[in-house]
Amino acid sequence: SIAYFNGRFVDSDDPVVPIDERGHQFGDGVYEVIRIYNKKPFMLDEHLDRLYMSAEAIALPFRQERESFQAIIHQLIEKSGLDNLDVYLQITRGMAPRNHLFPDCPVSVSMTAKPFRSIPAELREKGAKAILHPDERWANCYIKSLNLLPNILAKQKAHEQGCLEAILFRDGSITEGTSSNVFVIKDTRLYTTPLSRHILAGITRMAVQQIAAEAALTFTEKHVTLEELAEADEVFITSTTSEIMPVVQVEEKIIGAGQPGPITRLLQEKYTVRTSGAARH
Ligand code: PMP
Repeated sequence: SIAYFNGRFVDSDDPVVPIDERGHQFGDGVYEVIRIYNKKPFMLDEHLDRLYMSAEAIALPFRQERESFQAIIHQLIEKSGLDNLDVYLQITRGMAPRNHLFPDCPVSVSMTAKPFRSIPAELREKGAKAILHPDERWANCYIKSLNLLPNILAKQKAHEQGCLEAILFRDGSITEGTSSNVFVIKDTRLYTTPLSRHILAGITRMAVQQIAAEAALTFTEKHVTLEELAEADEVFITSTTSEIMPVVQVEEKIIGAGQPGPITRLLQEKYTVRTSGAARH
């Protein structure tokens, strides 16, 4: 499939990155995943805002003008020949002999374009299971950095137990999933973890917040305890690639009626309207 590396379009299988590359050796970089529906990137501005913010947060001198950067993304989409795809963007501190200190070299920019990673329709319809896992990540999870080791280990553990996601907790309250934000519904009210350094400000989370406002649903940011999670009427996770995914079981506890609830369904429908471009996005 088509990819991009530092100024040229390549095949994603082409060997373009040298051994001495800081993303490869240190995870010294930041990334984004953007979903393109019917050739239209969904919430592109929000993703780019977050990318520039993440780069700045790790003092990565990514100075490319937004317009020209956006133009490359559009070229990649065009060259992919796909209507619906996921674009992965990664900026690293560049290629230089391995040394912890910042190198004096240009940053590396890479992108890939892949067909949607398919989420089994059955999971979306019937809901997914999740495990609970201590949040063992660092204190700056608001940065979308390449360092995902704790996320990978927890997600793999979930997978090995037949679950889709690991819901992470810190001090008795949930933070987020390994690659998603977590929402809980109780008595028709919607709750999610407040934004802080401990979680990523999910773009899908933002979309759900906007949809909730339009649908006059009460949305509150609060620390949801593990007890409150277990007692929830509905739970769902959000991310660019899993969109709005109902969670019907956490560890041994069946959530609500054990199937996707009415508010989750409503939000899913409204999200689909947005992504299909029928709304203002
Ligand atoms: N939290 C984490 C840790 C993530 O990796 C992701 C996925 N990028 C999310 C939340 C959801 O973010 P978004 O809705 O922007 O994809």
